[in-house]
This record gives sequence, structure tokens and C-alpha cells, in this order.
Amino acid sequence: MLKNLDMCFIVEKPLGKLLKWLRILGFDTICDSDDSNDKRFIDSGKEKRIRLSRSVATRDRKNTNQILFIVSNNPFEQLKQVIHTLNIGFGDIRPFSRCNRCNTLLKPVDKDSIRGMIPDYVWVTHTNFRFCRCCQKIYWPGNHTKEGKEIIKRLFIFNLNGKF
Ligand SMILES: [Zn+2]
Repeated sequence: MLKNLDMCFIVEKPLGKLLKWLRILGFDTICDSDDSNDKRFIDSGKEKRIRLSRSVATRDRKNTNQILFIVSNNPFEQLKQVIHTLNIGFGDIRPFSRCNRCNTLLKPVDKDSIRGMIPDYVWVTHTNFRFCRCCQKIYWPGNHTKEGKEIIKRLFIFNLNGKF
């Protein structure tokens, strides 16, 4: 098995929330969809992505080395299954380091350079911003981060059951 830091995933379509949360935790995660450029990566065979699937047909394939069949319909339970099955620890994650829309690693961006690109009250009240060079989305610590931290606590510290 790969070292946790190098772990990366390909997620089948019905698992959209799981895909988003794996990206929020910092894991390189792409969607298996025919209408996306992601397909090229898969066909190249260069990447050893772990496939996360809800499909029984995928589960029953003979070569299941890199496939994890996701049991639950609940996104939080799905995330818990991935974390526990692959023995991912708190030290293995890099929360909020990746664009949850397109999977690109985020870069810190100078506050002055993004004035006018975000609401004024956000610009005034925050100092740390990160930027996705691919889809141009700007990130800052906000409600989304709060929600993410709560999920991370529940996953790694309190180990409580919960729902998104
Ligand atoms: Zn992006």
C-alpha cells in the first residue's frame, strides 16, 4: 500500500460528497466521469489511484486490489470507512490545501492583488487567502472551514457518529 501522504483516489459518480470531502482533507481525488478530462489520467495507467465505488459490479471484479467498495449511503459514514479502512491518521491529512472544485493545490495569494475580486467585508476582515490557479476560485477561512474543522474533529478525535 502507498504511504498515506501519496494516497490518491478516483471516485465514481454517485459519491460526489465523498469526493469533495477527500479534497477538503487534502487528498488528490478525481471523479470518474466520461465527460471530463480526468479520463485521460485513468487511461494512461500511470497513476495508482484507489477506486472508491458503490457499484456491485466493480466490487465483484477479480482484481480488487485498488478498489474500495463503499458500503453506506451517508457521506460521513463513507468518509469514515475510507479513513478507517486505509488507516489514515490525523497527521496524514492536509486540510484546506486543495481546491474542492477542481482538485488543484491552492497557493497563498497576496491580499492586495485580489481586492475587488471578493466581497469587501471579507477582504477587510481576513488576512490569509489562497487561490486556485486553475478555476480562479479564492479561498479564505470562513463558514466552510468551520464546517470542515468540525468534520475533521468528528473523524479523528471524538469518533462520533454524525451526518452532514
Ligand atoms: Zn479550482
